[in-house]
Amino acid sequence: MPTRHSPDVVIIGAGVVGAACAYYAARSGLTVAVVDRGPVAGGTTGAGEGNLLVSDKEAGPELDLALLSTRLWRELSAALPPETEYEPKG
Ligand SMILES: Cc1cc2nc3c(=O)[nH]c(=O)nc-3n(C[C@H](O)[C@H](O)[C@H](O)COP(=O)(O)OP(=O)(O)OC[C@H]3O[C@@H](n4cnc5c(N)ncnc54)[C@H](O)[C@@H]3O)c2cc1C
Repeated sequence: MPTRHSPDVVIIGAGVVGAACAYYAARSGLTVAVVDRGPVAGGTTGAGEGNLLVSDKEAGPELDLALLSTRLWRELSAALPPETEYEPKG
């Protein structure tokens, strides 16, 4: 009798948010499937300028998240392939 293998997590959307969720879910040991109606980064992500801004955030939850995000990006830049562009601007 055939067995069905379902992923632990199904993520709809292969933009930067879905990709980040998929990356961290997979890194924590979950099996992940990412589905999208179009190409990877074919939505808003493909238009992004790639800036990781903290200076435009007011004190509060958004700034807290931005600071956490910049820390994660720094860690990621060390783990991702060398052709990944990451340029800290201070
Ligand atoms: C011109 C421009 C410049 C920007 N510059 C920056 C910047 O410098 N720094 C910054 O932090 N942010 C920037 N942003 C914002 C940033 O690009 C977005 O916040 C981010 O890309 C959103 O990512 P996302 O994964 O949520 O959405 P998306 O990248 O849009 O991904 C969503 C995905 O879900 C898929 N999808 C949606 N509905 C379905 C469905 N029903 N079934 C299957 N698939 C589905 C879509 O096809 C798409 O691929 C910029 C935005 C624009 C427009």
